[in-house]
Amino acid sequence: MKVPFLDLRHGYAELRAELDAAYQRVAASGWYVLGPELERFEAEFAEYSGVGHCVGVGSGLDALTLTLRSLDVGPGDEVIVPSNTFIATWMAVVAVGARPVPVEPDERTSTIDPAGVEAAIGPRTAAIVPVHLYGQPADMDAIGKLAARYQLPVVEDAAQAHGARYEGRRAGGLSTAAAFSLNPVKNLGAWGNAGVVTTDDAAIAAKVRLLRNYGSRVKYHHEVLGTNSRLDELQAGQLRVRLRHLDEWNARRRASAATYTAGLAEAAGLVLPHVPEWAEPVWHLYVVRHPLRDALQRHLAEAGIGTLIHYPVPPHRSPAFRDRGWRPGAFPVAERLAGEVLSLPLNPHLSDREAHAVVRAVEAAADACRVPPG
Ligand SMILES: *Cc1c(COP(=O)(O)O)cnc(C)c1O
Repeated sequence: MKVPFLDLRHGYAELRAELDAAYQRVAASGWYVLGPELERFEAEFAEYSGVGHCVGVGSGLDALTLTLRSLDVGPGDEVIVPSNTFIATWMAVVAVGARPVPVEPDERTSTIDPAGVEAAIGPRTAAIVPVHLYGQPADMDAIGKLAARYQLPVVEDAAQAHGARYEGRRAGGLSTAAAFSLNPVKNLGAWGNAGVVTTDDAAIAAKVRLLRNYGSRVKYHHEVLGTNSRLDELQAGQLRVRLRHLDEWNARRRASAATYTAGLAEAAGLVLPHVPEWAEPVWHLYVVRHPLRDALQRHLAEAGIGTLIHYPVPPHRSPAFRDRGWRPGAFPVAERLAGEVLSLPLNPHLSDREAHAVVRAVEAAADACRVPPG
């Protein structure tokens, strides 16, 4: 049985009638940017996330960048980021002229280690950006306590965590402000690029609104140097439909994750995701670890199971950051994880049969990839 890593056509097929109706409603309205669909989506996503404000922007990267700008983070500032994340987290920091200061993750959870955060705080620290990696919330109480002690804003990178909970509270409402990506592969995904900022701080929301639209509140009156980063009406219409199904789709992801966790408990040499008691993850990805990851991935490919690596190169080893002078071994946990992580197929349209086929294939592959003792 072949199991692809992801096929987004299933999501469209399931919701086709609703999505097509939304598309036609917007198409016929004659209003395509900054209109009623976006206003409604912003209100609905704010309510979903349990926050006062939500501002739609053009991408997850822009959500991060504009949030940092709204906090006046800029040249000369340092921003604490995880050493293991998608590179956008770091690029947003560079985009505002600040310097990323990487902190290693807790190896069990893969999210940023609060003790490392405290050690990295210095006189130039302007913000902390934890990432809810793979859909699992970072340890936000510990980070929040540090932020209060050092009077620093915290910006959640919630690009992978729509609907996740930390001690019962939703991601997006756990800090000063949060940035979500709504690109097609995320748990809540549009037909293209989109993102939102959520916050309880009216001033931050107002600033992001200003920045996303050329620094303008009133037409042709430009208060600051902004940009063009607007979540358009067609995407907002799609997202409103998909938001209504998000909890159910996340529940399906949770069920597949449970199948994997139960079925793979005995698989040789495999380290399964660890979920701390305070976390209710939404399984954007189901990431296992294995010392012979590449061989394991090859075996699975031969068995017809699609897998991906999130991420094969930690940001500090990427050519994009070559000029910063980080050497191999600078962030050993991130480097080790990059060599061992493997994402199994997990999405709302993975059938029970497929999940069990993946379990059997992974068990067989792990058996074939036993690390010799000693
Ligand atoms: C997807 C993602 C982003 C960037 O979102 P885009 O919408 O693709 O710009 C940022 N951070 C993380 C952790 C992501 O997974």
